[in-house]
Amino acid sequence: MTSPTSLAGQTALVTGGGRGIGRAVALALAEAGAEVVVNYSSSATAAEDVVHSIQGEGGKAYALQANVALEEDVDRLIKTVLERSGRLDVLVNNAGITRDGLMMRMKTNDWQSVIDLNLTGVFLCSRAVARPMLKQKSGRIINITSVVGLIGNAGQANYAAAKAGVIGLTRTTAKELASRGITVNAVAPGFIATDMTKDLDADTILRDIPLGSFGTQEQVAGVVRFLAADSAASYITGQVIQVDGGMVMA
Ligand code: NAP
Repeated sequence: MTSPTSLAGQTALVTGGGRGIGRAVALALAEAGAEVVVNYSSSATAAEDVVHSIQGEGGKAYALQANVALEEDVDRLIKTVLERSGRLDVLVNNAGITRDGLMMRMKTNDWQSVIDLNLTGVFLCSRAVARPMLKQKSGRIINITSVVGLIGNAGQANYAAAKAGVIGLTRTTAKELASRGITVNAVAPGFIATDMTKDLDADTILRDIPLGSFGTQEQVAGVVRFLAADSAASYITGQVIQVDGGMVMA
């Protein structure tokens, strides 16, 4: 009997799956039995390392390069996955960057590059997988947003706007695809120890976290795995699940 938390026989694509939270998500989905496609933009060695770790545990994985801010790269990426794996069951829109600065001094380039990847990239990937998932009459799309998309953050106008946009996109896509058995949810981490946060002032941030510590990549990955693999999650769509140590309580 298949376990209610198994992804056996399914294929999952994790954008930016070679490093940070994406890496932990790729490993968690592979542990649940999925074949995992590890997308990367420039970190080929890191992505291959994730693939080898999964294969070392007896799982199936391969890496594909694509800049998911670019339409032609996304279309090629999804086409390649469908040709190679014959299906695509889970999309995790994880790739993201920061280009911080105060709004009044923010360069248009820094605004645009964050919007292009963190928001438009999520749209491009979601649009590209919608048709195959509609045909399959099943699918899970999980978008990694951020608590700053809920509350804003001084110095991150571009990032907060993109992450807030991802929440609107998640809810809209959830409504559009629900009747065909596809769920779309967002996971909103608070502060997770990765390359993205390594230069931040830990002591100041910790004061705002009731549970008193930074989150781990595995804690975020656990929620993604639940949304992707647990049959109980089939009745959850259009939601934003915070993994933030209690930092933001609405
Ligand atoms: P990270 O360690 O800096 O990793 C970023 C990942 O995105 C890398 O795998 C990178 O791959 C990939 N990436 C960057 N540009 C890309 C592009 N154009 N196309 C495809 N992939 C690209 O960041 P992280 O902390 O793991 O963040 C992962 C996600 O969680 C992001 O969406 C971030 O906004 C979100 N998040 C993080 C935190 C946190 O505290 N860390 C909090 C809230 C939300 P390459 O190296 O190959 O470019």
